[in-house]
Amino acid sequence: PTSEYEQLRRRLKNGVHEFWYYMSSELHKLQKQAQTSAPQMVSKINSILEMGEEHEMALLTDLSSLQKADQYDGWREKEAAELSDLVQRRLHFLQNPPDCSQARKLVCSLNKGCGFGCQLHHAVYCFMVAYGTERTLILKSFGWRYHKGGWEEVFLPLSNTCRDGDGATYAHWPGKPHTQVVDLPIIDSLSPRPPYLPLSVPADLAPRLSRLHGNPFVWWVGQFLKYMLRPQTSISTLLQESAHKLGFEKPIVGVHIRRTDKVGTEAAFHPIEQYMDVVEKYFDVLEYSQKVEQRRIYLASDDPRVIAETKRKYPHYEILGDPVVAKSAAVATRYSDNSLMGIIVDIHFLSLSDYLVCTFSSQVCRVAYEIMQSLHPDAADRFHSLDDIYYYGGQLSHNQVAIYPHSAQSPGELDLKVGDQVGVAGNHWDGYSKGKNLRTDKIGLYPSFKVVDKVEVVDFPTYSEVPL
Ligand code: GDP
Repeated sequence: PTSEYEQLRRRLKNGVHEFWYYMSSELHKLQKQAQTSAPQMVSKINSILEMGEEHEMALLTDLSSLQKADQYDGWREKEAAELSDLVQRRLHFLQNPPDCSQARKLVCSLNKGCGFGCQLHHAVYCFMVAYGTERTLILKSFGWRYHKGGWEEVFLPLSNTCRDGDGATYAHWPGKPHTQVVDLPIIDSLSPRPPYLPLSVPADLAPRLSRLHGNPFVWWVGQFLKYMLRPQTSISTLLQESAHKLGFEKPIVGVHIRRTDKVGTEAAFHPIEQYMDVVEKYFDVLEYSQKVEQRRIYLASDDPRVIAETKRKYPHYEILGDPVVAKSAAVATRYSDNSLMGIIVDIHFLSLSDYLVCTFSSQVCRVAYEIMQSLHPDAADRFHSLDDIYYYGGQLSHNQVAIYPHSAQSPGELDLKVGDQVGVAGNHWDGYSKGKNLRTDKIGLYPSFKVVDKVEVVDFPTYSEVPL
């Protein structure tokens, strides 16, 4: 398929979602007004909403069928496998220098003062900088708050040949090109900032990635996680046993409900019904094209009451999830070994699910989404976030490009010219996003369907030693 075809196909699907976010949100507003000013209209608006939703679901079904009918799925699978294989071989090459005593190294401490998802993101950022500077990443993890014995007792070491941070010369970031060992601070205090930080993707892979994938950067993160999270035997046994014990089976939707310390500080409270409405719709659409014997979710939360509540309110669902794990998650601020196994298991099954419903304000769900990308050719649209759009902590700006012009319809809206770049702050999931037009410097709302994401392409080393 041409790149244009693949991009249009994805844009069309996104457009159907955005169209219905817009229509349903406006109709709900009308309905509210009608309740006082024109009560006879309420039921009419209701039936428009119902028929509109059915219409949307039929369109989504047709788009999925179109993808199947175009017969490019074989190409998509093969291209994804080849790209992943290439990047994995490059990472292996980078991480296994023939002579560790001579190797240039980048040292990074895993123990950032935050949760597991946040620490993984910290490590991936280090790994990206290591890739960008062609330095072997040395991950310091002894005394790790989640597992005192360190990373290597849980996951395979990042290198077979080179694990010590020793060298002839040392410097703090950025050091000199010939400095043998450079240590890297957390992304928030990084200075100077190199170009190969999130959301950049390497120029030599970008054309292939933009054709294959709806969000090349998330795919890129997924590749680092794929390399890093190769489990030690004890963990792979645990994951296999858990799958068996839970009866993990598709179709299944992964639901992550983040509560406790997050609510009111970094995120708003969302009732279970908000998550489950999305799940219900996912299965409703699926039932247009296949028989669903049993609606099933994998439910992860840091609040054990959530699991009991969902089981009580949705008795026709099979609900996989462990209240004991959720309980240990609730006290995860202690970061005991016990809570480590819980979060590994939860992230694993969330990422294995067909679709994710969660809040992207949580790094737990973003990690699951990133891992998911290495399990499908393109899983960019296999999520529904109740709050943020996808982001990476400490990222350089996230820009979009206008593909349709827009004239502001109220003082709160932006004017757009085709080609304008907009720094996006968020999607309100009602047809509008908020951001800053970089041409006019104005901040405001604009219709989400009038822009596409800009892929940030940066020259990384091309690893010519590793065959294509
Ligand atoms: P964030 O705070 O949600 O952005 O994500 P972090 O991963 O940085 O920190 C939250 C921590 O709380 C996690 O790493 C877990 O230790 C714990 N936690 C949150 N949600 C869950 C969950 O659904 N399951 C488990 N097992 N632990 C969770």
